[in-house]
Amino acid sequence: MISVYIHIPFCKSICTYCDFCKVLYNKEWAVAYLKQLKNEINDRYMGEEVKTIYIGGGTPSCLSLKEIEFLLKLTDLFKKDKLEEFTFECNIEDINAELLAILKKYNVNRLSVGIESFDEENLLLMKRSNNYEDTLKKIELIRKMGFNNLNLDLIYALPGEKMSILKKDIKLLLKLNPEHISTYSLMIEDNTYLSYKKVNTINEDDDAKMYEYIVSKLSSKGYNHYEISNFSKKGYESKHNLVYWNNEEYYGFGCGASGYISGVRYNNTRSLTSYIKGNINSSEEIISKRGKMEYEVILGLRKIKGINLEEFKTKYQTSMEDEFPIKPLLKNKELILKNGNIMINPKKLYIMNEILLKLV
Ligand code: SF4
Repeated sequence: MISVYIHIPFCKSICTYCDFCKVLYNKEWAVAYLKQLKNEINDRYMGEEVKTIYIGGGTPSCLSLKEIEFLLKLTDLFKKDKLEEFTFECNIEDINAELLAILKKYNVNRLSVGIESFDEENLLLMKRSNNYEDTLKKIELIRKMGFNNLNLDLIYALPGEKMSILKKDIKLLLKLNPEHISTYSLMIEDNTYLSYKKVNTINEDDDAKMYEYIVSKLSSKGYNHYEISNFSKKGYESKHNLVYWNNEEYYGFGCGASGYISGVRYNNTRSLTSYIKGNINSSEEIISKRGKMEYEVILGLRKIKGINLEEFKTKYQTSMEDEFPIKPLLKNKELILKNGNIMINPKKLYIMNEILLKLV
């Protein structure tokens, strides 16, 4: 069983913080892109049973309905009899009954919607728009059309953001009652509008306090904190994203997509013109046994339950303790050992990257 990610690099407008592979939507490019996507799938896919599909971007929902139908038809190229989860990313303003009907027709069973914030100043800074009343109506439509697995994204710790703004955003988000919530602290990445404008991030203490608030509030409302940035109601963890965190293999199709197949990690070109011309691959790396173990640690410790020591040993024929300097980190309580699992101390999750650097 394998998973599939498909990248659609088109958006209707460009957010100020975004460093994803994306361009403004253009019909001519979109048509050429989808044709090339079909070629890539035909060339690369080796006929495995597919367990999850995730169509992300960019903004897949900004394509025309005809283009979306073409895109969804491409998924018929995969063996899907045992498909467990099929996610499609949408922007809230693109959601309407016609779009939802097409998604239903092709068995999409999970929607992921970028809400990011309801606060006017936050939205202005991100160059996004959103309105709670409109969002509520769209979500009612999503429910009416029979979708019962919905993820909403939230971005917090924006420059100047006060705790009161975050609290209001979380309150409104909870009223929408999604099955899954992904939260991201704003990072100012190179080559984004915010970095050109030399906008500073919020200070680390405030960022950590906001993270703590999110964890305690969502946990108190019945959401399981199962990955550093992700929360879900019981049974609604993202099966697709767990493939990444469990260090399992998956295809990545499309401009800027990454994949991990037959022990090789690859990155597709981020140049749309190269991709459309069929020059798809930009890099490939054969992952050694040591590399696989390092990925296992870096990705696995993102999960709150961490890594099971016995499973690690069965998978790699060596123990995690022998391969990585775990003991000092257990001693200073950056890592903890519970029920045979090594995990990051929940109180230290906000410094996860520092802990990983000490390990790998
Ligand atoms: S954040 Fe999403 S919608 Fe905004 S530019 Fe990036 S990919 Fe497009």
